[in-house]
Amino acid sequence: MSYLDKSLKEIHEALKEGKVTSKELTEESLKRAHEYQEELNSFVTILDDAKDEEVTDNVLSGIPCAIKDNFSTKDILTTASSNILSDYVPVFDATAVSKLKNAGMVMIGKTVLDELAMGGTGTTGHTGIVRNPWDPTRQIGGSSAGSASAVARGIVPYALGSDTGDSIRKPAGYGGIVGYKPTYGLVSRWGLFAFASSLDHVGCFAKTVEDAAYVIDNIKGIDEKDMTSFDSSNINLVDSLNNDVSEKKLFYIKEIVDKLKDDKEYYDNFLKVLDYAKELGIEVKEESIDENILRGIYPSYMAISCAEATSNNSNLTGIPFGNRKEGRTPDEVMINTRTEGFSELIRRRFVIGSFILQKENQEKLFFNAQRIRRLIVDKMNDLFKTYDGCIMPNAGSIAPKFDEELDRLSDKYLLLENHLAIGNFGGFPSITIPSGLIDNMPVAINITGPIMTDDLVFNIAKKLEEKIGFEPLSVKEEK
Ligand code: GLN
Repeated sequence: MSYLDKSLKEIHEALKEGKVTSKELTEESLKRAHEYQEELNSFVTILDDAKDEEVTDNVLSGIPCAIKDNFSTKDILTTASSNILSDYVPVFDATAVSKLKNAGMVMIGKTVLDELAMGGTGTTGHTGIVRNPWDPTRQIGGSSAGSASAVARGIVPYALGSDTGDSIRKPAGYGGIVGYKPTYGLVSRWGLFAFASSLDHVGCFAKTVEDAAYVIDNIKGIDEKDMTSFDSSNINLVDSLNNDVSEKKLFYIKEIVDKLKDDKEYYDNFLKVLDYAKELGIEVKEESIDENILRGIYPSYMAISCAEATSNNSNLTGIPFGNRKEGRTPDEVMINTRTEGFSELIRRRFVIGSFILQKENQEKLFFNAQRIRRLIVDKMNDLFKTYDGCIMPNAGSIAPKFDEELDRLSDKYLLLENHLAIGNFGGFPSITIPSGLIDNMPVAINITGPIMTDDLVFNIAKKLEEKIGFEPLSVKEEK
């Protein structure tokens, strides 16, 4: 097995002992990136001139990683997978990127996303669709599609992503890897292209819970450039991983899990994980949330995120930012730039967003969506007075095929496929870990906890991960 497929701690030890060098790891990672690019299309840019880094005491030093292409990277093309930014080169690094640089990471590429991080299929990036390494006829999901497929394929041991509704956790589940979205503000968002500011989070993908903990411990912290960031010096993920979890309490939401009961294999997989939790001494109970409120998650998420996205992306006019298209007047320049620069999905979302933000629609659409968000967050916080977290199936199925049609008005879709946005509504720490295979494709569970309990969420995830004993694709195949 190559060192690249080992855990970050094992790679670090091997680097320290001189069994492998940062240069060898970088070359191997780049080689794999090219080898799989045609099949998977994980990357917008592969950084062939990536240099090895000095190995220090930092576990990330000298180890390759990949960054989603909506993080500003100084002097490196950053497109957000959109035609409108297809030649944009930022003049500064996002805070998460500069923190990784300080840790000694080797960035080997920028990964494909659904255009501007909107969408969940990995099919709308301007450089083409991203495929699932477990089965290239299936989606990896999105929007952090390239980061997920690159980690799942073992091209890099970890990658950065962003999560506004589920964009890290959904693809992590489809790819059989760990995906984590922290408490809102734990990781600075400076330099991440804003999608929906009240919902956007920076997070990561890794093969194991411990690996994800190392990444987040390195990038978290207060940042004067992001006023939503906070001092988290009391939250140390790696240090808390092995704490005792017995007597912790988890709940699952009955109305959502009920929708899984028709699919016996999926339901049994979830029950098996609950049994593991109980074996660890964790108490697991069923709790109810009004189904009418739960059905409102997706529409309210769409209303809020489209409204915020319309506002945030109003700078892409071809004047301050964006590939400029010809026109006789400034208005014409902007209209042509935006019409040609955005794909259909983005234009649709901006039309919805503009409609929602119109004064006469705000009360009915925008503020009602905010009210639903508030009802859900209040209910969760109420439950978190009794429980340490919520455990749920990550999605209703394995990764979909590219041509699979979804009934977006079905209860199954509204509840099972969209509940992860609860984590964004409340800014709750939320981690997805693989829970097994169905039809040789990964399925996953998610644990979401009260804000600022990221360490406990990791701790519980780590203990469950040990019980589940899932083997990531890259580890399985590269043995
Ligand atoms: N799939 C969701 C959407 O379409 C989530 C996107 C995200 O988290 N960036 O907006």
